[in-house]
Amino acid sequence: MSQSIEERLFMIRYKAAEQSHLIIKDQDTCLHCKTKECNFFCPADVYDWHPDEKKTSVAFENCIECGTCRLACPDYNIEWVYPTGGHGITYKLG
Ligand code: SF4
Ligand code: SF4
Repeated sequence: MSQSIEERLFMIRYKAAEQSHLIIKDQDTCLHCKTKECNFFCPADVYDWHPDEKKTSVAFENCIECGTCRLACPDYNIEWVYPTGGHGITYKLG
């Protein structure tokens, strides 16, 4: 039986840092981005475009460090580094 994304994410332990390791370099670039692809390619649903505020929010605490957004944003508008100081994720079941 296959597991839902939520069930799979439950198998990951997070130690969230206070500061984000994911930075949107320029919100104006997001404003003019036609596809808003980050809202779809992130497996942990980290990025969300807010049309009223005209900004992309970043729920960095949910990041599973797959690295996709570093390459998949068409404008390379996401600065990506690993969380420091022992923060980030631990895969409990491999
Ligand atoms: S895909 Fe890149 S440029 Fe487009 S909204 Fe997301 S972060 Fe911004
Ligand atoms: S590294 Fe992966 S999980 Fe983390 S924000 Fe980027 S796409 Fe999402």
